Amino acid sequence: MRSKVISSSKMRTKTLQLIESLLEDVAEVLFLSPWTTDKFLEEVKDAEALIAFHEPVNQELLDHAPKLKIVSRFGVGYDRLDVEACTAMEVYVTNTPGVLSHAVAELTIALMLSLSRRIPVADRYVRTEWGKPGTPLLPLRHDVAGKTLGIIGLGRIGYEVARRAKAFDMKIVYYDEVRNGKAEKDLQVQYQPLVDLLRTSDFVSVHVPLTAETTHFIGERELRLMKETAYLINTSRGPVVDEHALCRALRESWIEGAGLDVFTQEPLPLCSPLIELENVVLTPHMGTHTVETRRLMASAVVGDIKRALTGKVPLNLVPEQRGKVFKGRPNPRK
Ligand code: NAD
Repeated sequence: MRSKVISSSKMRTKTLQLIESLLEDVAEVLFLSPWTTDKFLEEVKDAEALIAFHEPVNQELLDHAPKLKIVSRFGVGYDRLDVEACTAMEVYVTNTPGVLSHAVAELTIALMLSLSRRIPVADRYVRTEWGKPGTPLLPLRHDVAGKTLGIIGLGRIGYEVARRAKAFDMKIVYYDEVRNGKAEKDLQVQYQPLVDLLRTSDFVSVHVPLTAETTHFIGERELRLMKETAYLINTSRGPVVDEHALCRALRESWIEGAGLDVFTQEPLPLCSPLIELENVVLTPHMGTHTVETRRLMASAVVGDIKRALTGKVPLNLVPEQRGKVFKGRPNPRK
């Protein structure tokens, strides 16, 4: 009998079809649409694999999923998955690291350039003002060449951002809890304590995962340390930045502006004060939204699900589970 794989359907149709066709020989995939907790808990009862997006995977869900062998996160951040609970229940947890770093790095650079040249404002200007007689010219903006980019969290994505920023002739400094000798050597990036990085950078780009320690990592204190002419870019997770403090910083000009792909609440409510601010560029959590990257993510997810369903250890286990081999749950709960 074919296994059952369950997923919320927060994917575009093409990605759904790709996953379905790649799993065709071993499993049937149920995409829940619309997703509701009750329906999910009902359907997960006989599922052997779960493709996780942004829904929480917690003990309650595991208690309803006696046959579950793997939770495969379609993405890299797994802050909404209770890995400890999964490990205790011998359920593998995987994600899709690496394959998406280019896409997120490209978006980070796009936000940086959008801010430095005010591209969204310029676009609006052309559509509504430029052709009118007597319209004033837009003010001059600034080069990124020669400016300092401060990267917080020089992991896979941070490294790719540094590599790209290098091509723009930027000086790159970074802060991380672990020194990255390879990046220091290959890209001549320079380690700085966080306070120094915040004080000296023209652009600060955040790439740490969301953990208890990194929640509100950038708050009032950090924003006040930044230059008045500096920009903050966040493509990691919304709660890494204290959004309330950021709104004050943007309104009261502690900093020049911000580029944000992620938010405390997603979708960003239309009543959010960020929406009204002119000095921000906002994108809808679309770091990995490219055809190429989504394909790679789908095949990583499918590859690991197939491995788990056939008794093999998945390739992309989250760090907390590396080296673990689960033999299946001996006494599956009802
Ligand atoms: P990674 O694990 O390779 O890099 C994270 C880096 O942060 C590591 O170098 C780590 O040492 C550092 N770090 C962790 N905790 C820290 C702390 N307390 N202080 C200082 N440094 C710390 O992860 P990655 O693949 O580069 O992804 C980073 C994050 O990007 C993900 O966790 C995810 O939340 C986010 N992300 C967002 C999107 C998007 O669509 N916007 C897509 C993918 C990933």
